[in-house]
Amino acid sequence: MSRRIIPVADISAVPDIAGAAFAPRGTLTDARSRPMRDLRISITDRCNFRCVYCMPRAVFDKDYPFLPHSALLTFEEIERLARIFVAHGVEKVRLTGGEPLLRKNIEWLIERLARMSTASGRPLDVTLTTNGSLLARKARSLRDAGLTRVTVSLDALDDALFKRMNDADFAPSAVLDGIAAAEASGLAPLKVNMVVKRGTNDGEILPMARHFKGSGVVLRFIEYMDVGTSNGWNMTEVLPSAEVVARIGEVFPLVPLEPNSAAETAQRWGYADGTGEIGVISSVTRAFCGSCTRARLSTEGKLYLCLFASSGHDLRALVRNGSSDADIATAIARIWQAREDRYSQLRGSGVPAGRDNDAPRVEMSYIGG
Ligand code: SAM
Ligand code: SF4
Ligand code: SF4
Repeated sequence: MSRRIIPVADISAVPDIAGAAFAPRGTLTDARSRPMRDLRISITDRCNFRCVYCMPRAVFDKDYPFLPHSALLTFEEIERLARIFVAHGVEKVRLTGGEPLLRKNIEWLIERLARMSTASGRPLDVTLTTNGSLLARKARSLRDAGLTRVTVSLDALDDALFKRMNDADFAPSAVLDGIAAAEASGLAPLKVNMVVKRGTNDGEILPMARHFKGSGVVLRFIEYMDVGTSNGWNMTEVLPSAEVVARIGEVFPLVPLEPNSAAETAQRWGYADGTGEIGVISSVTRAFCGSCTRARLSTEGKLYLCLFASSGHDLRALVRNGSSDADIATAIARIWQAREDRYSQLRGSGVPAGRDNDAPRVEMSYIGG
């Protein structure tokens, strides 16, 4: 399978780069008045799982042209860019992938990020999303490097079903061991993400809720999304979050909870008996584009403004051509200020989504979730 060529927006078209003395002030907003607060950094496009909804084996096979190492941003380059994003107002950085724990010496990067302070003087919030397969081995060193929280993906407790979904023969017990190690190392509060595919793992909603209820873990149910072009997404396989809440509420009564912040993507529900909470992320049935404050940096250093974008802006070119921090800060500012993306909102309202439908959409494993 050959890699699809993702068109790259021409950064030289961004005005005012050359010689600009731009001083970030932490107040960058886009064309829809959304500030830039979160940065997701994909540190590898490789993964040891082949989740059917993300990296189906038929596409991501042994011939798939993953990025060569030289194309990846180095950790020094990531640190430099992160510092500029943070100066622009980013308060939270999430490392993702592919599987981020596959990248060697990730602790070095975490240590550097954890030392940063936000524009408002608070410590930068550094977190990580992982499939959990290497967490039992790595939890302690991640914590020692300065990581404070972690999100683990787990789609089923049933051994055969989970193995079918990750298509790489990983047992749920390995992920549960990783979760236990993370908790023992003090990585808390811990979140667990479950992507729900109707007809595949919706029978696991209740067992998962039962398993994590009262454990301190926040279980979050994610609607199956139409990211990328290889997972064969179909609306009939989306189980609306409202149904997840109804199914759990029938057995364990739930009460709505206030969001933790305006930009929170999950709707929170608490168990009426006070034994914890769940979250639902309704990316398909209840879009949250209006409060989307996320920028995404791909493995090879392209800045994406939306999970459903077809192209990114090549920051690596600037990093590697001698541009100053001020030049790069100006480029990022111009790109973010022009941002109008709201793909899910347009999809939900039946309006064509405002992108070239013939253009290849970027894959989740490349841009990070
Ligand atoms: N490999 C890590 C993991 O699985 O946690 C990090 C990268 S993964 C792309 C990030 C998140 O995206 C995971 O929680 C995964 O379940 C979710 N994800 C991937 N494909 C998805 C899809 N089509 N719809 C909804 N969520 C998806
Ligand atoms: Fe890998 Fe995460 Fe995608 Fe699964 S969801 S294939 S673990 S990147
Ligand atoms: Fe943000 Fe794009 Fe998702 Fe809307 S569709 S919430 S703009 S990433």
